[in-house]
Amino acid sequence: MAAPLLTRPDVIVIGAGCAGLSAAVRLAQHGRRVLVLEARSRLGGRATAFKDRATGEAVDNGQHVLLGCYTSTLTFLRAIGAESHVRMADELAVTMIDQQGRRTRLHCGHGPVPLNLLVGLLQWPALSWRDRWAAVAMGTVIRAERRGVATTLPDETVAEWLTRHGQTPRVREMLWDPLALAALNQPSEVATAGPFAQVLAEMFGTRDRRAAALVLPTVPLDEMYAAPARTFIEAHGGEVRTGVTVQVVLDERRVTVVAGADALSGVPVVAAVPWFALPALFSGDVAPLSALLTAAAATAPSPIATVNLWFDRPVMDEAFVGLPGRVMQWAFDKRAVFGGRASHLSLVSSGAAEVASWTNQALIEKALHELTAALPAVRGAQVVNATVIREPRATFSIAPGQPARPSTATAVAGLFLAGDWIATGLPATIESAVRSGHLAAEAVVARYPSSL
Ligand SMILES: Cc1cc2nc3c(=O)[nH]c(=O)nc-3n(C[C@H](O)[C@H](O)[C@H](O)COP(=O)(O)OP(=O)(O)OC[C@H]3O[C@@H](n4cnc5c(N)ncnc54)[C@H](O)[C@@H]3O)c2cc1C
Repeated sequence: MAAPLLTRPDVIVIGAGCAGLSAAVRLAQHGRRVLVLEARSRLGGRATAFKDRATGEAVDNGQHVLLGCYTSTLTFLRAIGAESHVRMADELAVTMIDQQGRRTRLHCGHGPVPLNLLVGLLQWPALSWRDRWAAVAMGTVIRAERRGVATTLPDETVAEWLTRHGQTPRVREMLWDPLALAALNQPSEVATAGPFAQVLAEMFGTRDRRAAALVLPTVPLDEMYAAPARTFIEAHGGEVRTGVTVQVVLDERRVTVVAGADALSGVPVVAAVPWFALPALFSGDVAPLSALLTAAAATAPSPIATVNLWFDRPVMDEAFVGLPGRVMQWAFDKRAVFGGRASHLSLVSSGAAEVASWTNQALIEKALHELTAALPAVRGAQVVNATVIREPRATFSIAPGQPARPSTATAVAGLFLAGDWIATGLPATIESAVRSGHLAAEAVVARYPSSL
């Protein structure tokens, strides 16, 4: 590496995704000089953006949707002055087009919670009265979760949990399954119910109407949080370096950060790398971490595939629609969200374990076919550009039998973990990553009350 590591920082953070950057920002707020080291040339990890070669537009590595209940993420964005880089709806409102092409809107109005949810569900024409009452009855279960009463069984899948609580096939098709697939990146039949129950408790279990509202980034992801976080860290005496692949050498429980020819020991380290990068991060006496490294290596990934389509004219009349039961489950009109800066549609396939191996051509054709069937305006439009983005390790699997998730403290003094896969109780999301970043920062500050 060009500049030496030895301008001794107070803390080193490895990885500049949401977890690493939020940890660094929180540490900077505590007055710590932080050095953030990122292997890739760009910031943001699994929530980032790049320039599309054909159009020159900034394109996200996949559409990211936040929720009003992402309290830590919203706190992080406020801290770095980036709150205006997202747009929060006033309440839950979403248009769904079922497999028969019927378009309906779930709108949970301005009334007090949970009355607005009740009214929204009871007025949703996608559901029969039986379906509506089934969905309403789920409110009791969700509120119990919110009070800390576990309503899920160990290793129970989302599908089993929903069925056990009387959810009908139609409510699952139109409401719970699309929500679960989006939040967990795994189908209801595969994912464990616990993290979904926590998401629902945070969305619907409070008095805050906006907790269930969708929050969309209004700028590409790197601009949304990564660049402002870097500015904040640097303005507080820290540094963010990219293109630096770090090794952590453990030697008689001493932690040495090695980057190229440079090495630094005796500084607290937050490893904010994903589970799949953890085993390669450490060398030397890794015995104290062996259980952690074995669990990380045994954790399965879950992919996401995105098809971006550029049409010769606008084809959507709202920012996004849900396409339940399809390969591409959501379509976003980036023009409606980014304004004049973007002109493409982003179609998302979550839980894409099988789909991710399709050819680009097959994915694009499928996306176009499903969109044309759902949106009449697509029929007269021409595709002028199309791209596919695969993220094979978008999230970690939360299927029953997956290894337990670790906490931020490790068996090695001075070494802390952050990342969406830390035991936050949430699925692999920006909110889980940011919460883990804040937890790691607070753990460092608690353990080392003053700068070393
Ligand atoms: C396509 C897609 C769509 C998604 N949609 C949503 C969504 O709608 N809503 C939502 O909340 N979440 C979504 N997610 C999940 C969300 O992006 C992740 O949970 C979150 O970004 C994880 O952040 P992280 O900081 O934990 O990890 P990462 O973003 O993976 O960051 C870790 C960083 O560590 C770096 N690193 C690894 N090894 C080293 C090393 N040895 N030295 C230095 N640096 C290293 C990596 O390069 C990386 O930048 C989506 C993810 C994808 C891929």
